[in-house]
Amino acid sequence: MNATEKMLRVLAIEDSEDDFELIRNELAEGGFTIQHERVETAETLKSAIQQQIWDMVICDHNLPSLDSISALKIVHGIAKDVPFIIVSGLIPDEVAIEAMRHGARDFIRKDNLTKLVAVVERELKESVLRTDLKMMREDFHRVSHFDSLTGLPNREYLFKHLRALMRDKDDSGGGDNQAGDNQAFAVFLIDLNRFRQVTKSLGMWAGNKVLVETAERLCAALCKEDFIARLGADRFVAVVPGLEHEAGASEIAATIHQCMDDAFQINGQELFVKTSVGVSFYPGDGQEWDDLLKNAESALYSAKAAGGSSYKAYKPEMDNQGKQRLIMESALYHALAQKELALQYQPQFDLFSGRIIGAEALIRWHHPEFGLILPAEFIPLLEETGLIVPVGEWVLRTACAQNKQWQDAGLPPIRVAVNLSVIQFRQPGLADMIRRILEETGLSPEYLELEITENIALHTEEIAIGILDELRAIGIQIAIDDFGTGYSSLSYLKRFPIDKLKIDQSFVRDHKAGVNDDGIVMAIISMGHSLKLKVIAEGVETQDQVDFLRQNGCDEVQGFFYGKPMKDRDIAFLMTHATAANEPCCDV
Ligand code: C2E
Ligand code: MG
Ligand code: MG
Repeated sequence: MNATEKMLRVLAIEDSEDDFELIRNELAEGGFTIQHERVETAETLKSAIQQQIWDMVICDHNLPSLDSISALKIVHGIAKDVPFIIVSGLIPDEVAIEAMRHGARDFIRKDNLTKLVAVVERELKESVLRTDLKMMREDFHRVSHFDSLTGLPNREYLFKHLRALMRDKDDSGGGDNQAGDNQAFAVFLIDLNRFRQVTKSLGMWAGNKVLVETAERLCAALCKEDFIARLGADRFVAVVPGLEHEAGASEIAATIHQCMDDAFQINGQELFVKTSVGVSFYPGDGQEWDDLLKNAESALYSAKAAGGSSYKAYKPEMDNQGKQRLIMESALYHALAQKELALQYQPQFDLFSGRIIGAEALIRWHHPEFGLILPAEFIPLLEETGLIVPVGEWVLRTACAQNKQWQDAGLPPIRVAVNLSVIQFRQPGLADMIRRILEETGLSPEYLELEITENIALHTEEIAIGILDELRAIGIQIAIDDFGTGYSSLSYLKRFPIDKLKIDQSFVRDHKAGVNDDGIVMAIISMGHSLKLKVIAEGVETQDQVDFLRQNGCDEVQGFFYGKPMKDRDIAFLMTHATAANEPCCDV
């Protein structure tokens, strides 16, 4: 050990300069270089301990205005961990014991200073150990209580907090189980809608940025008294004290929704993220913390089902819906392997020649217990779980293989249209995957059409255009599905390399209902044509609608009037028999 390493900062509480000189000499002989300050009164002691970090406090027992125990209390009141050694003349045993009780580390008689150096060296070592231990404890507390990404309390800390709130309530009730207003609280479960799409399409880094900023926005929007935690993934929890019923909760839910209104700036592009919120109340919705979270989750599922920025308070009848969803989710994982998924095909006709020109592949799930399940019920689940990627690939392969089979059977060639989820659209290697499928099945690319929704425009325009270019380069067709319901602006449309617009069925249906959306349909047709795009109307159910569409120059039609989604062999039958598009089709 060299001299610099043995530098010792000593605060001496000593009224005799001579006595301190003895102490200093002893330490110097022990190899220490001393930096010191000598104080005699409570005031000077306080200021010395506040202004500097000391390695050791060496204190005389009896000073004219201060005794060692009072000095010890002052020192440890400000710097709890600094070793405190009493160096003094005779001390009565009871005083020594009392000083020990207050945290003094050792006593050394002034007339026997020989053990001073050994005591100081021991204290320095222990001090390092104590500091390490303290840091380890702090680290452990941070890691075990806080989420490393957002800095918010984590799930364990949340559970602890909920248990503590319930214990407080039980304690304060003195055995009385009636919670007063101030002991009631609400648990808000907050979930980011379609967050998986954000990470899938923009990457992990973007997802993390959204989570961190969401945490900041929630903390800024809610009150200081509210406890905000990250439960995991894209789920957050706000525990709001003093709320027992729905009154007041909807206001807080609105605050949560509002704080997500502004776009997130990710890599210079704007991203809008909405939240769904479910809430349960203590004590009404559960006496145990896990019941409260479970019930808030049921309410959350119900809010998610409502779509958009929704909020729902828990109701007992929601239990089944939540369970149902969980059952569906786990069943979906096996659906593909167990061959429970199938495709139906809905014919598409040229409105003027009357010929069948295509068929849209629509997925069906035949669950062994629940029977037929339509895509509206499970496509969102497939998207949330990421299963849409393998399932979507299966749909593409099956539809292409089927179309090739029709052609090989000598039927007139038609185009098969396949719906593509936004998640699939942003999967790296999409074009390669499609090319591979076309090769494997032997289908020529002009007989495949992809139906994508306007939501692809939600992401960077350049990226979307790049992907569309790649797809078009394969030689396949691209249609914009459900056109008119999404986010497309005319400027997007002009720049998107696409082939067809598919007018959403709500506009077509409204013609029948007499609600005047005719203007929209006419505008879409003429806009499509001026952009040199084909226009197809979906959801065509009546002769009246057919006449209107024909008068306005719509190119193609699809709907129950011509044929419902059907099995592949029924399409084959139609291809050989259906001729006139102005006649309702046989209901196969
Ligand atoms: P979509 O692509 O707009 O498909 C048209 C939907 O309208 C189909 O519902 C079809 O059965 C229904 N439809 C067709 N003609 C009529 C009509 O005249 N009247 C009425 N009321 N409805 C009509 P479906 O099969 O339940 O599919 C619903 C949605 O699920 C599809 O809407 C599509 O967005 C999605 N979907 C279906 N299959 C797939 C798939 O394989 N992958 C993906 N990503 N989405 C799919
Ligand atoms: Mg479609
Ligand atoms: Mg559609």
